[in-house]
Amino acid sequence: MITPPPLRDDCFALPAGVDWMPVETALALLKEKLTCRVASTELPLQQAVGRFLSSDLYARRSSPPHANSAVDGYGFDGTLSDQSAPLVLPLIKGRAAAGQPYQGSVPKGSAIQVLTGAALPKGVDTIVLQEDVATDGQEVAFHGPLLQGKNTRLMGEDIQAGQCVLSKGRKITVADLGLFASVGIADVPVCESLCVGVLSTGDELIEASQSADFGQIYDANRPMLLGLLRRLGYAAVDLGKAPDDPKKLRAQLDNAANKCDVILTSGGASAGAEDHMSALLNSTGSMALWRVAVKPGRPLAMGLWQGVPVFGLPGNPVAAFVCTAIFAAPALQQMAGGGWPVPHGFSVPAAFHKSKKPGRREFLRARIREGRVEAFGSEGSGRISGLSWAEGLVELGEEAATIKPGDKVRFIPFNALGL
Ligand code: AMP
Ligand code: MG
Repeated sequence: MITPPPLRDDCFALPAGVDWMPVETALALLKEKLTCRVASTELPLQQAVGRFLSSDLYARRSSPPHANSAVDGYGFDGTLSDQSAPLVLPLIKGRAAAGQPYQGSVPKGSAIQVLTGAALPKGVDTIVLQEDVATDGQEVAFHGPLLQGKNTRLMGEDIQAGQCVLSKGRKITVADLGLFASVGIADVPVCESLCVGVLSTGDELIEASQSADFGQIYDANRPMLLGLLRRLGYAAVDLGKAPDDPKKLRAQLDNAANKCDVILTSGGASAGAEDHMSALLNSTGSMALWRVAVKPGRPLAMGLWQGVPVFGLPGNPVAAFVCTAIFAAPALQQMAGGGWPVPHGFSVPAAFHKSKKPGRREFLRARIREGRVEAFGSEGSGRISGLSWAEGLVELGEEAATIKPGDKVRFIPFNALGL
C-alpha cells in the first residue's frame, strides 16, 4: 500500500537535506573557475567592433598632434591682448589652414589668418574669432581683452603619445575606432571570437519549419540562444537537437567538443529519468549540478566535456534565457577575454504587487512605462511571450519581501546585459 507525500504549495520548496546554492556563490565560482580560452590576433580597425582587446593599447602619437586653432579667425601672440583697449594689428601675407600649415613665423605684434584645425604658426598662441574682427586685408582690428591661448587646442590635450588609451579586456565600441585612429592605431590586437555551440535536447522537439505531431513542440531555445550569442558578439554554432538517448547525446557532445570553445545545452539538466545531460556530465566526474536558488532556474548543470565547459541550461525557455543572461553570459565574456561584467541596474518604482518568499533570488520579466516598472502578468517559465513583452528583468534579492506599487526595485534593462 502506497501513501501520497504531503502536498507542497511550491514546486521550488527545498527538498530535505539539499543545500541550494546562492546566486552570488554560483557567480563567484564561475568567475574563479573559468578563464580566457581564446588566442590573440590582430584586426584592422573596421573589423574590430565588438571584439575584446587582447592587450593594453598605447597612443602612437598625441591627439591633437600639434597645437591648432579651434575656430576660423586671426592668430597672434596673446601676450598682447589682455588689455581692454582696441587692438589694430598688421596682417602678414599668407594664411594657415588645416593640412596647409604656415611655414614661416609671425612676428610679435602682427596677425595672420588662421582657419579651424590649422597648426598654429610659430609666434601664434591665441586666435580671435573671425566674426569679432574688422579687416581691410592689410590690418585686423578687434577689442580685447582676450585670454592668451583663447580659441586654440593644446598639443596632446586629449591624449599624450605613449599614454595607455584602452586596456586589455575592453569590448571595442564604435567610438573606440575613432579614438584608435586619432592616435595612429590602424590594427588592433583582439581576442579570437569565442566559439559557442548550442544544442537542444528532448524527444519532443521539432523545428519550427516542420509539421508537428501530437506531443511535439517547436524548439524555441535554439534560435533564441543562437541569436543571443550572436548579439553578444560570439561565433555561435548551431549543434542541432539531441534526442533523449544518452548514446546519441554523447556522440553529439563529442562532436561539439571538437569544434567549440564552450557548449550551451538546454533541457535534461535536472535529475529526472530523461535528464540525460546531467547524467552524462555527472559520468565524467567533472560535473557540478548546481541547485542555484534562483527563479526561474531550477538546476543548472555545469561540467567539462573533454575539457570543454558545458552549461546545461534548464529546458523551459524563460529559465534558459534568464540562466544564460545571468550565469552564462558573464562567464562567456570572461572566457572570451573580456573580463567579468557586472550589469548596471536602476532603482525604479514598481507598478506591480508581489509577495516573495525568502531563500532565492527572483528575476521577473519587466519593462518601464511612464517611470514605473511593470512585471509580466505570469511567472510561468514556459511563457515565452513574456520574454518578448519584456525589455529587461527585475531582480529581487533572497530575502522575503512584499512589493507594493511605488516601492523601489532593481531593474536591469536587456541592453545592460548586452542583449
Ligand atoms: P527539461 O528541462 O528537459 O525537463 O524541459 C523542461 C520543459 O522545457 C519541458 O516542458 C520541455 O518540453 C521544455 N523544453 C525543453 N527544451 C525546449 C526547447 N528547446 N524549446 C522549447 N521548450 C523546451
Ligand atoms: Mg527534456
